[in-house]
Amino acid sequence: MFESLQDRLGSILNGLTGRGALSDKDVSAALREVRRALLEADVALEVVRSFTDRVREKAVGAEILKSIKPGQMVVKLVHDELVATLGTEQVAIDLNAPSPVTIMMVGLQGSGKTTTSGKIAKRLTERQRKKVLMASLDTRRPAAQEQLRVLGEQTGVATLPVIAGQGPVEIATRAEQAARLGGYDVLILDTAGRTHIDEPLMAEMAEIKSRANPHEILLVADSLTGQDAVNLARSFDERVGITGIVLTRVDGDGRGGAALSMRAVTGKPIKLIGVGEKMDALEEFHPSRIADRILGMGDIVSLVEKAAENIDAEKAAAMARKMQSGKFDMNDLADQIGQMQKMGGMGGLMGLMPGMGKVRDQVAAAGIDDRLLKRQLAIISSMTAKERSNPDLLKNSRKKRIAAGSGTDASDINKLLKMHRQMADMMKSVGKGKGGMMGKLMGG
Ligand code: GDP
Ligand code: MG
Repeated sequence: MFESLQDRLGSILNGLTGRGALSDKDVSAALREVRRALLEADVALEVVRSFTDRVREKAVGAEILKSIKPGQMVVKLVHDELVATLGTEQVAIDLNAPSPVTIMMVGLQGSGKTTTSGKIAKRLTERQRKKVLMASLDTRRPAAQEQLRVLGEQTGVATLPVIAGQGPVEIATRAEQAARLGGYDVLILDTAGRTHIDEPLMAEMAEIKSRANPHEILLVADSLTGQDAVNLARSFDERVGITGIVLTRVDGDGRGGAALSMRAVTGKPIKLIGVGEKMDALEEFHPSRIADRILGMGDIVSLVEKAAENIDAEKAAAMARKMQSGKFDMNDLADQIGQMQKMGGMGGLMGLMPGMGKVRDQVAAAGIDDRLLKRQLAIISSMTAKERSNPDLLKNSRKKRIAAGSGTDASDINKLLKMHRQMADMMKSVGKGKGGMMGKLMGG
């Protein structure tokens, strides 16, 4: 198991609070951990170097968002840079060319070219109603052409009939003619791979390319490819010129480092990801998910973003102190309700925090919803200042008056008082709890 970057940065940077900007020293300490996390995620060394250099440039002197700790700020900068590097926009397979549009699949042996050819063919047939022909140019492995034929049968996609004795370029020529004459929209050329990059393979790919003139050349690569990813992507791109990348076995336990390496080196978009052996296990690529996977930090980034938008730092710090001291009066409850409304309800905020599911359930059990929040604010604002700081002062006669003043009834007020007691207890335990997310988030 790996330690998440969040945990690592936490131990380094949680001590640093109340600063206005990230210092060179803070950033260097944090980037050492970032570097380790990236290397453990199998990002290639040269990519790690240029990546951390870019983050350093942006981070030193960056203003720390109010209510966020320096460590969280660095995580956010790293995450943003990861997403920017991986490509913020989803790039689909480009079929904008005269029919038949040829897609050539390249990559090492066993990377998933044949499987992915079948998946893409199925997707284009079903979702875009394209007429697709697949052809295997793999004359190296005896069963390769048969493998594609079987996939075609399974998915209902046509495959070029096999003629024994033809070489890859001859098959490509025949496939192009068959696609043209048969009125196909798309032709997928599945090529042979090798166990490693070598000159004969590159020469064969270049020759097929010049004959078939493909509109898309997709490099299919196993997401578990480690440090070799850079060399792999660079070789194929320089020699053959790829138009995009398909990352396979993303369902495995790889941490996505290959995605970053290949994208950084080629600048070519990751168009799709393979997430299983089945023919529908193909998905669009979401940079942010891979970035989270690389950093191993769950939804902390969106939490930081939400907090950055909504929480006023001083109020939050004061609230954290209150929580820890266990003092939590009606004024605090009103503040808290106001913030809950801003954050899209308590459920919305807590849903983002790791380990807060249980507290959220307690809140739900206490019957807090957004409609109720409004009514509760009305009740609190009908109380006197004394009553707000000490709700035990409220006698039945006052409850009735407040109910009348706020358009509610006495049972609503009793419910609110009960909720206040429950929340005060809950806040106390969360605030005191070792490593409680709420306390950390709020700068306590
Ligand atoms: P090729 O040599 O590049 O054509 O690779 P294949 O398409 O024959 O795939 C090799 C193996 O990887 C097969 O057993 C596939 O089922 C498997 N495979 C391909 N893509 C994926 C994927 O996204 N996830 C998983 N788990 N297995 C995959
Ligand atoms: Mg194959």
